[in-house]
Amino acid sequence: MQTRYYAITPENRQALAEVGGILRAGGLVGIPTETVYGLAANALDGAAVAKIFQAKGRPQDNPLIVHIAAFPQLYALVREAPMQAAALAHAYWPGPLTMILPKSRLIPDAVSAGLDTVAVRMPSHPLAQAIIQAAGVPLAAPSANLSGSPSPTTAQHVLDDMQGRIDAVVDGGPCEVGVESTVITLAAARPRLLRPGGITLEQLRAVLGEVEVDRAVEQQLAAGEKAASPGMKYKHYAPAAHVVIVRGPFERYASYVNRHAGPAVAALCYEGEEHALRVRAFPCGQRDDPASQARHLFDALRALDDAGVKTAYARCPEKSGVGLAVYNRLLRAAAFEIVDV
Ligand code: AMP
Ligand code: MG
Repeated sequence: MQTRYYAITPENRQALAEVGGILRAGGLVGIPTETVYGLAANALDGAAVAKIFQAKGRPQDNPLIVHIAAFPQLYALVREAPMQAAALAHAYWPGPLTMILPKSRLIPDAVSAGLDTVAVRMPSHPLAQAIIQAAGVPLAAPSANLSGSPSPTTAQHVLDDMQGRIDAVVDGGPCEVGVESTVITLAAARPRLLRPGGITLEQLRAVLGEVEVDRAVEQQLAAGEKAASPGMKYKHYAPAAHVVIVRGPFERYASYVNRHAGPAVAALCYEGEEHALRVRAFPCGQRDDPASQARHLFDALRALDDAGVKTAYARCPEKSGVGLAVYNRLLRAAAFEIVDV
């Protein structure tokens, strides 16, 4: 299969109509969103959705997020939309927030991986919105990477993983948020954060009051333990390089890294810290700016592999605000390996 490449703007009606046609015909398209690039298919077409799992090598029990372009589209996809859903949508849609709700009969089993619920999000990226509108159907879209590798934040990342496996990719430039959406379930007794992302826990609590945090956000699930969000149980977001989080003040981090220096050793640090490190440094955002860390994390993880790094020592992100999402992803990239210094 030849993967078509579109570098377009939301005003490019002709190209958008083509992309919409590919999706309506059951094809797969890599699309830009504000979080990461998505691998989109018609969410109402079980056969099209099945192709997503095939192209990514995604485990069948990991459900997909359905993307809509306007709030009223939600009603056909869910059995009930509680007040909390409307309140969250009012505050944070369009944006990097996914809500889990009881699913309607329109949702194919392949989308929900057999669960009784469906994940729905309204992206804010103008091209994502234009593509959903051009398709005329809601789009199921997980991240557009091969399963297990870091999520793509540029069209080139999508091509690196998916060239020849999907019908097209639409280039919308680098993603603004850089990590996947926040996932909250409203289908449980109390609202619970399943995956941190661009909409922070603090922002969710500002609207809903109490929000629980699923154990899997910061802890490794025990073997056989059931995951509320199936995606959290996989070793996700991981480069081939062995990543170790080194937690402590910068001076102690630097001396730990320098003691372990070697030809295939690297540092995943913050901008401006490179000069104190005697290994190759991959700066990933600014120390006191978690949003910039989120924006650069996956690109930095991919860069480690491109450079042939065997072991990378990473700074430990602060857990407040968007930092919780950076910490959650990095923990998985490091397979939960943390050294305290
Ligand atoms: P991705 O699109 O690759 O970022 O993955 C989607 C994430 O949403 C995964 O972590 C899924 O496990 C999670 N997810 C999707 N649908 C559901 C659902 N119905 N219940 C719980 N988690 C879900
Ligand atoms: Mg993913």
